[in-house]
Amino acid sequence: MRLVLLGPPGAGKGTQATRIAGRFAIPQLSTGDMLREAVASGSVLGARVKGIMERGDLVPDDVVIAVVADRMDHSDAASGFILDGFPRTVAQAEALDRELAARGIALDAVLELEVDEDVLLVRVKGRADAAAKQGQLVRRDDNPDVFKTRLKAYRAQTAPVTEYYRSRGLVHVVDGLQPIDVVTDELAAVLTAFA
Ligand code: AMP
Repeated sequence: MRLVLLGPPGAGKGTQATRIAGRFAIPQLSTGDMLREAVASGSVLGARVKGIMERGDLVPDDVVIAVVADRMDHSDAASGFILDGFPRTVAQAEALDRELAARGIALDAVLELEVDEDVLLVRVKGRADAAAKQGQLVRRDDNPDVFKTRLKAYRAQTAPVTEYYRSRGLVHVVDGLQPIDVVTDELAAVLTAFA
């Protein structure tokens, strides 16, 4: 099963992608995680994207496309994956189509978490506070100012991706403001048709 999970920052994509990956035994391909790992490792790629991520802007398409194309070729992704945080621009979606076509595969479904934007800011603040309380590292882009930049990037660049897929009948929308377990169950219910 090959999936894309869309939704604004703070909508719970990471949490839900992890759960769906577990239920359907497919890897979660999170570009945010991959880029954060690159930053933590001090690689050339990491140095290139660090400042961009800290500002809440989008990393250039060519960089992130190369990261995903490479990750899709790992053996654990051979029979499926859930993309989390990618594609975030229409150019990325088009590149993904080309990468999939070159491998003779296609997406089964695009899942969208729908969340009221006013609730997101509260949620992200809660995520930062909870992490700090548990002594975990707080993401530097989880502060209200940077979050607003991320939301702006989402509206301008990522919202059109939903339309790109909607026109092909791939999009399934789930209300992301429901309790976490309910969201997971609704996503899983959509996916039973493709499993
Ligand atoms: P995330 O964890 O998905 O919210 O991503 C954290 C940050 O990584 C984003 O704010 C961007 O700076 C960068 N990033 C992650 N995925 C992408 C992508 N597909 N395109 C561009 N930048 C990305």
